[in-house]
Amino acid sequence: MGKSFIERVAQKLRIIPDLSRPHSKGAEQTLRKYPAIEDWDDHRELDAQQWPKRVVRNYSLVPTTCFNCESACGMLAYVDKETGRVRKFEGNPAHPASRGRNCA
Ligand code: SF4
Repeated sequence: MGKSFIERVAQKLRIIPDLSRPHSKGAEQTLRKYPAIEDWDDHRELDAQQWPKRVVRNYSLVPTTCFNCESACGMLAYVDKETGRVRKFEGNPAHPASRGRNCA
């Protein structure tokens, strides 16, 4: 199917990626909200800060807790395996109370 005028303009302005580009390995997976627990020791994802370059980061996902209020929601710390530094936090879907949700 051909691209519409809007798609061609958006691609030229780099608002959206090149839709005719072949997808990278793994792109055929279905969308999901959280990484599978089996992948927490070796989770890979693209670094959004590097866009439009496709830089893959390798993480260990470490369960932890938010201490900002009395709810103590479950979090996942994304530890960069290359540097050993935490790059971001997201909700922990395996936490029995917050089940992946948090307020911020
Ligand atoms: S994520 Fe929000 S609601 Fe949960 S413990 Fe932290 S501050 Fe409280």
